[in-house]
Parts: sequence; structure tokens; C-alpha cells
Amino acid sequence: AAAAAAAAAAAPPVLPKFDHQPKPYSGLSADEILQKRKTFLGPSLFYYYQKPINIVEGKMQYLFDENGKRYLDAFAGIVTVSCGHCHPDVVNAVVEQTKLLQHTTTIYLHHAIVEFAEALASKMPGNLKVVYFVNSGTEANELAMLMARLYSGNLGMIALRNAYHGGSAGTIGLTALNTWKYQIPQGEIHHVINPDPYRGVFGSNADAYVRELKDHIDYGTPGKVAGFIAETFQGVGGAVELAPGYLKSVYDVIHQAGGVCIADEVQSGFGRTGSHYWGFETQGVIPDIVTMAKGIGNGLPLGAVVTTPEIAQVMSQKIQFNTFGGNPVCSSGGLAVLRVLDKERRQSHCADVGSHLIERLRTLQQRYDLIGDVRGRGLMLGIELVTDKKEKTPAKLETAVLFEKLKDLGVLVGKGGLHGNVFRIKPPMCFTKDDADFLVDALDYAIWGI
Ligand code: PLP
Repeated sequence: AAAAAAAAAAAPPVLPKFDHQPKPYSGLSADEILQKRKTFLGPSLFYYYQKPINIVEGKMQYLFDENGKRYLDAFAGIVTVSCGHCHPDVVNAVVEQTKLLQHTTTIYLHHAIVEFAEALASKMPGNLKVVYFVNSGTEANELAMLMARLYSGNLGMIALRNAYHGGSAGTIGLTALNTWKYQIPQGEIHHVINPDPYRGVFGSNADAYVRELKDHIDYGTPGKVAGFIAETFQGVGGAVELAPGYLKSVYDVIHQAGGVCIADEVQSGFGRTGSHYWGFETQGVIPDIVTMAKGIGNGLPLGAVVTTPEIAQVMSQKIQFNTFGGNPVCSSGGLAVLRVLDKERRQSHCADVGSHLIERLRTLQQRYDLIGDVRGRGLMLGIELVTDKKEKTPAKLETAVLFEKLKDLGVLVGKGGLHGNVFRIKPPMCFTKDDADFLVDALDYAIWGI
């Protein structure tokens, strides 16, 4: 181990070869953009790095800054670039549709929206066949919550602590991380204990968490609820996979209480987990409503809610309309994304590369006390950093330092968790084993250096 560590310390790892020359850039510099952002883009925008990088070009799993420096993108624009930056098939579909017709709305007919909806429905299990298109994950969850309330006739929504479901007035209520919440009315939303195998009070004991949820319904609600929403793999909360078996029992409890079950697949869908196409499938459940966004469009502003014909029926009480939802350009791009993921067998690729990556990360974990937990599936991984493995004290400072160092070495990862001490590794799904090796070597080199 000492020899390996010494070797890691000797020379910084080098990015894998990649055949792409970025175009020369002559636009605004990082400093100029920063200045304008401060003036024109509001105080709530936050920056990921002490000196933010100015990204000017992307090609598959790589990004290039204003000076042509290449970065391995292990965060995919927050788990959004599924096929790869500027994947030619997606670009082509968008360009061709844009040249022909950029926009109508669903008050007219257009072939792309039905082709896309049909393709998406073909990816869903059970009777999940009716698709509503929106423009983001937040909108998808807003609509899902509305459906749950209308369908059940109840108001109370159950969500998990440590969840992120969006930033609108309604979905902020579902979100349960203090970093994102404002003091506004939360409107009949109840947060129950998170079944987090690493940090949760009941460890991996799914039954104990389910009992607590049931207690909450019995004592904290009229006994009836509108629904339950959860990410099977919490993203913003720090790549937490819910305790095995949890959703199956919870879905039964929720149905008995008159509610519907919503799976938030905004981050975990489209084969990213490797083992299944959707995150909820890893828990052997079929939700009543599924929400999705991010990877669905490879970067296009697109989201969707998929539900059963029975639940969809309640939406016919009033007009349900979204100007851009199902727009021809986004639908054409989204259809291309689904085809690329199938054609390039990205799900099995995620399983293959992901198991290689997690194995290497676990070896690293044995060498460094700083690495408290390595978790996840496929290309949906988390590395939790702690200063004390037993106490699991979040290593906030060390995470921040390593984060900058990784960027300098040419790796962009995500950060997450309530304490910001989890690295989130969720790259474009074309990420290779060589990329995985480079990422681990860079992490090794950076940790060795602090
Ligand atoms: N749900 C989950 C699980 C998310 O991770 C996010 C965004 O990070 C959202 C919903 C909200 O999506 P959007 O930012 O597209 O509104």
C-alpha cells in the first residue's frame, strides 16, 4: 500500500487520450462573465469552484474551457447529459427539427410528440402508459403532486428527509434539505425518517423505517394521505440508495392509506444504475406516477410525468396545458436520446464501467481513513468523506479542498449531502473504464497530497 501511495504521489495522472480539438475561443473571459453574472443574474446563483471555470465546448464525456483545457466531466451538468455532450445523433435530430418547425403547441397535431410519448411508454412497466410533457424536474413533481391530490381526494403528501424534488413553491415543500428551503407555507407535507443505510438511525433495517412511516400516518395525518414521493437513489442528498425492501412495504402502506406512490426518476432513470432502466425497479415496485427530467433530453429543457390511464383521467376535470411541454424540437431530441441509449447499449455499459469504478474506489477506501463510504450502482455513485470513520464526522473542509484539486487535475465531480461532504460521480453514460481509472488515480493523487 505504501508503494502504491508513493507512486501516486510521484506524478499527477494524465487524462486518457481523446481525439477532439476544441475550436479556438474568443468570447468573454471567465472574469468578464463573472462580473456580468454578479450584476445581471441575481444573488442566489452559486459557483462550484473558488475560481469558476468558463466551459465553452463539450464532446461526449469531456468539456473544454476557454483556454482549451480538457476536463473529464464526471457530473454531466448535474446528471443531465446522458448520451454525451453534443452527441451527433441528438444534435442532428434537434437541428433538423429546428430547421423545419421550431415550435407549435399541443393544441395542434405534431408527429414528434406522439412518437416520443410512445417510445417513452414502451420503457415503462405495468400500466404506466400516459405521458405528460413539461420542461423540468420541478414542473414534473408539481404536476405529480397535483395528480396525487386530485386522484386521492386527500391533501397530505409524505416525502423523505434528505430529499430534493425541486425549487418551486410547491416542490420546496417536498424537498427536505435545509440548504434549499425558504420560510414559506409547506402545505400538508410530512417528512419521514430517511432509510439511509449509512447514516440512518435504523441502518439498513427497512422494516423499522416503514414502521415509523406508518406511525407518522397514524398519528400525524387524518389516516388518509394523497401520496408518497421518493427518489430511489437520492441525488442532491448525496447519492443515497434507499435501504433494500423499503419501497415495497411503503407502497403497500400508502395504498392502504388511500394515497398514490410517486417515483422521482429525475436523476436515476434511463439505465444509469446499470442494473435496471429505472431506479424504482431496483426495489421491485411499480409506482403509480413516475417523474423524470435531466437525462431524458441530454441537456434539452425537458421533463415528463408518466402515469396510468386511471389516474390521468382526473386531469380531464380541467384543461391541463403546458406551452413548451412536448415542443417538437425537444420531442425530436428526446426521441433521439432514447434511441441512442438503446443503440449504444448504455445500460449494460453503465453496469460494466460502474462495477469497475466502484471496485477501484473501494480499494482506495481501504487505504484512506478519509473515505467513509463508497456507494451506488452503475454510473450513479457517491463517495462520502469523513474525518472519523467510526463517528462518521463529515469532512467538510477536506471535501472542499479535494474538490478544487480534482478540478485542477482535470476532473469535475459533483458535491452533495446535507454537509456537502459527498462526491457525486454521475458522468455522461459514455464514460469509459479508462476514464474511471483516471478519476480514481486523480482522487488518490489529490488525497495523498492534502
Ligand atoms: N428531482 C430530483 C431528484 C432532482 O435531482 C432535481 C434537480 O436536481 C429535481 C427534481 C428538479 O429538477 P429541475 O432542476 O429540472 O427542476
